Amino acid sequence: ETIDANLRRAVATHPDREAVVDRATARRLTYHQLDEAVDELARGLMARGVGAGDRVGIWAPNCLQWFLVQYATARIGAILVNINPAYRTHELEYVLRQAEIGTLISAEQFKTSDYRAMIEQVRGGLPALREVVYTDGPTWTALLADAAGVSSAQVAERSAGLSFDDPINIQYTSGTTGFPKGATLSHHNILNNGFFVGEGMRYTHEDRICVPVPFYHCFGMVMGNLAATSHGACVVIPAPGFDPAASLEAVQDERCTSLYGVPTMFIAELGLPDFADYDLSSLRTGCMAGSPCPVEVMKRVINEMHMAEVTIAYGMTETSPVSTQTGADDELDRRVATVGRVHPHVEVQVVDPETDLPVPVGTPGELCTRGYSVMIGYWNEPEKTADVLRRGWMHTGDLATMDADGYLNIVGRIKDMVIRGGENIYPREVEEFLYTHPDVVDAQVIGVPDERFGEELMAWIRLREGAEPLTAEALREFCTGKLAHYKIPRYVHLVDAFPMTVTGKVRKVQMREESIALLS
Ligand code: ATP
Ligand code: MG
Repeated sequence: ETIDANLRRAVATHPDREAVVDRATARRLTYHQLDEAVDELARGLMARGVGAGDRVGIWAPNCLQWFLVQYATARIGAILVNINPAYRTHELEYVLRQAEIGTLISAEQFKTSDYRAMIEQVRGGLPALREVVYTDGPTWTALLADAAGVSSAQVAERSAGLSFDDPINIQYTSGTTGFPKGATLSHHNILNNGFFVGEGMRYTHEDRICVPVPFYHCFGMVMGNLAATSHGACVVIPAPGFDPAASLEAVQDERCTSLYGVPTMFIAELGLPDFADYDLSSLRTGCMAGSPCPVEVMKRVINEMHMAEVTIAYGMTETSPVSTQTGADDELDRRVATVGRVHPHVEVQVVDPETDLPVPVGTPGELCTRGYSVMIGYWNEPEKTADVLRRGWMHTGDLATMDADGYLNIVGRIKDMVIRGGENIYPREVEEFLYTHPDVVDAQVIGVPDERFGEELMAWIRLREGAEPLTAEALREFCTGKLAHYKIPRYVHLVDAFPMTVTGKVRKVQMREESIALLS
């Protein structure tokens, strides 16, 4: 099924149910209204000459128009290219050129970002870029006015001619470990993944899903939007950018049943001074994903946010994204401390990164995945594609262990593993332990070069407000007797925040650079 066929089915089944709510503009659309708005935009884009397979870029924070563009491009078979709202001219120009974007949809201004000025700066050097439309300006109105030139029947005919194996989306990876790569994904890839993610949370048309994670990332557009529409459920957009108070207000006012976030978002929500005042009793489930989910945070989400059935998902942009997810029926220990078991219609394998041969149960190795969800490839980057798609498997670059029952644990990224005096150290394990310190709110551990041991551990720590500063000695004392001596961080660096990607991932590469500068 194509994304549009799936949407049309939801429209036919639940025409009067709410499909999307944009809190910032107080706009809400039922499935019937959504269908009309998507059709109008699809006609407008067709009238402007956007063909199947053409690339349409979107560079804007979460908003109703973003949602409409996602479904309108899917309806006419244009390939949507999600552009990170945090990009600046250098990265913007790279993506516009790399994906040969003909039409760019943006917002003129968001907070302090003047998108229009940045687009004007790079536009001259990009002959392929024919058109720029701003969601918050007269160009949007003009685009919709052009819709009159194309009929709904013409749009339907285009839609019916699409194949579910066609590429429909290019999503750039978060750029946590290097320059972002554009994963090319088909309808089949992302629609099915969205559906299975929703199944994992037992979604029905009754669900109302609060999505504070960015739409430009698969967490928002697939696990949020496609999971919702494939179940006739409703997406609630709490705010254009992440704002912990706006998220909880949206849950309370809209009676949301599900809430998403990367771990740092949940930490921010739980840490609001008036956290206890929000009525979160409508929540039932949700999803934490994107980076290691600390056990302590999961427990608080279950106990203090009413999210009894909350799930953890693991995945990556290249696999549409989700490969494993915990289930509401799993034992509590597994639900807070693993990333669950493999998703339907996907296979996983844990291999020795040197030999690509499967490792025994319980041994860390590189996680590989195979199935419908694996991307077509990186857009126009055959070599990088061949690096990760080998032997018919996607080599994730993540280290994992699998237990005898098939539950997976993400030990960390291969690139983040620290080797100190010949011992392999997985920072994640040390971080989990540091979280048990009563004054520690967030902890991130990295390796820094050391003459004697090759590498030494440094812990970056965010302390509870009002806590006494923590010295390296005090922290080491806290660890002594509980962690093997080589896993005890040598250095401590107290911070108010970590360098982050917009998808909420800690940029350890940058932390390492800053740490080296600090130590020298
Ligand atoms: P880049 O590939 O550009 O360096 P990235 O890998 O962060 O960036 P994404 O595709 O957004 O880009 O993220 C996928 C990665 O996020 C996974 O490979 C894994 O390292 C991490 N991740 C996702 N979910 C989880 C999870 N539940 N637990 C631990 N790590 C996770
Ligand atoms: Mg990656």
